[in-house]
Amino acid sequence: MKPIDLTGAVAVVTGASRGIGRAAAMAFARAGAQIVCTARSTAATPSKIPGTIDEVAEQVRALGRGALAVRCDISQEEQVEALAQCTLDEFGRIDILVNNAAVNFRAPFAETPMKRWDLVLNVNLRGSVLCTKAFLPHMLKRGSGSIVNVSSGAVNPELALGIVPYAVSKAGLEMLTRALALELRPHHIAVNGLRIETSVASEGAVFFNPEAVSPDWDTPEAVGADIFWLATRAPSFTGHVLTMAEVRAAMEKTA
Ligand code: NAP
Repeated sequence: MKPIDLTGAVAVVTGASRGIGRAAAMAFARAGAQIVCTARSTAATPSKIPGTIDEVAEQVRALGRGALAVRCDISQEEQVEALAQCTLDEFGRIDILVNNAAVNFRAPFAETPMKRWDLVLNVNLRGSVLCTKAFLPHMLKRGSGSIVNVSSGAVNPELALGIVPYAVSKAGLEMLTRALALELRPHHIAVNGLRIETSVASEGAVFFNPEAVSPDWDTPEAVGADIFWLATRAPSFTGHVLTMAEVRAAMEKTA
């Protein structure tokens, strides 16, 4: 099959300072897209976990594509609005939005302070809502666009033990995906979800679970390819929340 050409397209990836977000950003860039990398870690304000949006934007530019690194805490509405404004000022359009940024908090529910509950829901669910709302007017105006929401196997209750706020945020994100897909279908805007059902060796996952890391873990690059595939289907392919295994089976069929 002919490789997908995204020349001229603009992809915004949240949580692009490292891990799966960085891998998705690089997959879009390799196909020719211009990339807006957004997260909180920058060269000037790094985190204790490796990776910054400036490094990723530099890697995108090294491929000859346009790149913008925009520092943004997606739980903050004004910052998300500024992100959309910067994107449109620089590139004048948005074609693909990947709502990938997320945080987790591990504790029994009874020992989860409301502050932590709110943080997880505000980043993972409300942050994805804010980003979608910020970019949607431009997608609606153009009558095209593709949104991919990154979910987790933690939506299965037996895997949600000790991470209830995270699981609830991802279940909400999956519902958002399906409901928005219906509403946006007439506007040719696709909304799909990737449910990551196994562990992936992102910088964040390795940092927080060093004792659990195993060679069996998936790579961020393989997951970036799954996100790329979901984001680049025809607009009629919408409302699907697929596991990585389902995406890879579909990829093989369409190869
Ligand atoms: P990661 O390495 O921890 O990266 C998380 C990204 O989210 C970082 O770029 C981080 O950047 C960004 N982020 C966190 N809080 C943010 C905020 N308030 N505003 C903006 N950006 C923020 O995670 P990952 O493993 O690549 O995970 C990516 C996605 O896959 C997440 O949705 C996660 O739930 C999902 N997932 C991962 C696994 C896995 O095993 N790795 C499994 C299931 C699902 P800054 O810190 O620079 O802001």
